[in-house]
Amino acid sequence: MTRSLPLFSLVAALALAAGPSLAAPPAGSPAQPAQASAAAQAPAAEAPVTCKSGIALQLLGSGGPISDDGRASSGAVIWIDGKARLLIDAGGGTYLRYGQSGARLEDLDFIGISHFHTDHVADLPAILKGAYFLSGNHEVQLVGPSGDANFPSMTTFFDREFGRGHGAFEYLSGLSNASDGLQLAVHPSDVNVASPGATRVWQGDGVTVYAFGIPHGDVPALAFRIETPQGVIVLSADQNGSRKEFVDFARGADILMMPAAIDDDADAQSRFLHATPTIVGKIAAAVNPKMLVLDHFMGRSLRDKDKNVGVIRQFYTGPVYAGRDLSCFPLSH
Ligand SMILES: [Zn+2]
Ligand SMILES: [Zn+2]
Repeated sequence: MTRSLPLFSLVAALALAAGPSLAAPPAGSPAQPAQASAAAQAPAAEAPVTCKSGIALQLLGSGGPISDDGRASSGAVIWIDGKARLLIDAGGGTYLRYGQSGARLEDLDFIGISHFHTDHVADLPAILKGAYFLSGNHEVQLVGPSGDANFPSMTTFFDREFGRGHGAFEYLSGLSNASDGLQLAVHPSDVNVASPGATRVWQGDGVTVYAFGIPHGDVPALAFRIETPQGVIVLSADQNGSRKEFVDFARGADILMMPAAIDDDADAQSRFLHATPTIVGKIAAAVNPKMLVLDHFMGRSLRDKDKNVGVIRQFYTGPVYAGRDLSCFPLSH
């Protein structure tokens, strides 16, 4: 069964034209053209593209791990009443988009890292380095997955990056306790990806963040659920969709974000790591969010985007948005 419902997509040009308070188009609005050229995706404006009213999800990067998509890799911020309080993932290119979004390091309370592939964490040191230029002392919680033989845990990663005497960026070792001129104390912790239930990882101002292990091949990985007074946002990073309990973790989401990394005919190794459009559609149908946002596009999945969205829509009939760098998705009041 193939439905002919329109694809709703946000384009960077639309975001820039609409100015700093762009809202995602409401369900039922006309389809927007989804141009895939690099030129169309690259935000050109100097002014920050922000979504500063209420609570909103803003993508920093909507691309994947290969530089053939003209997009920053994975990352998103959650705006709460004008401040970007939460950062989820910091893949390559998100450092630039973080600044373009208008987010400020002094407003940041929580960083969640889904896993230690470069397209989800490579820009973390660059973003944290801004701590040299803050006034006053600030603190941020840094939460990521437990490790295994092939990947470090969050705490090990932090130590290998910033550990005094041995870290790759030892010159930023003051991040552990806001010393050496760095005005930010970063508190890393690990979440056991094999934990049977969700782990509460942050709470403040009525907002609660939970983490839950997701199957990304053999890579320890987490999804994040953000419960707010205005609704629930669930961000799935890379996963192959084989952990059925993810649906329970995501249930009740107003916004569900899922990667659109591969096609249905991808090879076995790709399907070991990533969910196909059919699986994304089935998960979205089971979760039944008010909207589905796609990110983590790669060269081929961009070329096949309309076809893949059509596959997803065979299962999930709510609005589907193809995210772009700096796309903004407010929770409705
Ligand atoms: Zn990955
Ligand atoms: Zn990835």
